[in-house]
Amino acid sequence: MTLTPKPGVLEIEPYVGGRASVSGVAAPVKLSSNEGALGPSPKALEAYEEAARSVSIYPEGSAAILREAIAEMHGLDAARVVCGNGSDELLTMLANAYLRPGDEVLFSEHAFLVYRIATLANSAVPVSVPEKNRRVDVDAMLAHTTPKTRMVYLANPNNPTGTYLSRDEVMRLHAGLAPDTLLVLDAAYAEYVGRNDYEPGLEMTVRFANVVMTRTFSKVYGLAGLRIGWAYCPAPVADALNRIRGPFNVSLPAQRAGAAALGDHDHVRRSVEHNERWRAWLTEAIRAAGLAVDDSVCNFILIRFPHRTGKTAEEADRFLCERGLILRGVANYGLPDCLRLTVGPEDANRKVAAALGEFMAQK
Ligand SMILES: *Cc1c(COP(=O)(O)O)cnc(C)c1O
Repeated sequence: MTLTPKPGVLEIEPYVGGRASVSGVAAPVKLSSNEGALGPSPKALEAYEEAARSVSIYPEGSAAILREAIAEMHGLDAARVVCGNGSDELLTMLANAYLRPGDEVLFSEHAFLVYRIATLANSAVPVSVPEKNRRVDVDAMLAHTTPKTRMVYLANPNNPTGTYLSRDEVMRLHAGLAPDTLLVLDAAYAEYVGRNDYEPGLEMTVRFANVVMTRTFSKVYGLAGLRIGWAYCPAPVADALNRIRGPFNVSLPAQRAGAAALGDHDHVRRSVEHNERWRAWLTEAIRAAGLAVDDSVCNFILIRFPHRTGKTAEEADRFLCERGLILRGVANYGLPDCLRLTVGPEDANRKVAAALGEFMAQK
């Protein structure tokens, strides 16, 4: 008899975050993990520092101050908000609460990798559904449902493609699911999406008993290091998550900083404006260099490189790294010809565009 993890666990490829360093470069420019370009609100930092005085006491376990701030801002019922140590924790807790061995879990071909990990960790079966031109295909998703489909994860918009589904398309996906299939709408980039046919999922979580929406403070709020996410759930789902969640899963500084960040509307507005301006600028500059870039609604863009020796994504990655510019290779997302670039501060954006121009122009 030997000690073995439950079925599925050893099929997991451990998640590797975006690189943060390059050997030989003192201060590299990190554009590999979609952190907000402007960083956190000064109000959030102040609250964080203030909370340092109280770290000897346990936080209030349900993250009430944060749930109430979220509920007030979005016009929600605080009792149905569940906070997590990043939205990753919530995406995982949903799988822990609802998946039985052998259940099928649907997500799209280039979806966020956490879905596969959470599925396999629960001995469930990941079902990866082909996308069409790096965009989720609702018909294909529906065609892959079976009586065993227990959960559907949809990152909307999706990372690393940067594409999104309209409100109507998400409704159509939901309409084709059985009532005992949970639709998880991961709206990590919702704040950046400036399209009027987009809806992050709040509407649906209010109307339907089998839809959950997750959100994060890691992107537009610039608090990735504090690990804060939240889910808006039907009441029975919130109840299930609250039973399995760690009793103090969101730290005191995280609760306080998150609540303060929500109050700084100006900072969020500036962050979104900065993103719109530089996402458009980068898209145009990189297309002008001769590379393909899909339209993105997020704070990153996906750059597609040619197959030609000398111009591949891998060679570009090396070229940029030597210049201290760290992007994200996405071969593990089924996109070996692409690099993902986070919209950064002005200076970083200009450096990357210039370096890519140089890379494409060299013989
Ligand atoms: C960044 C990201 C998250 C957020 O993860 P946190 O755990 O909240 O930092 C969730 N989903 C997607 C698709 C992401 O890209």
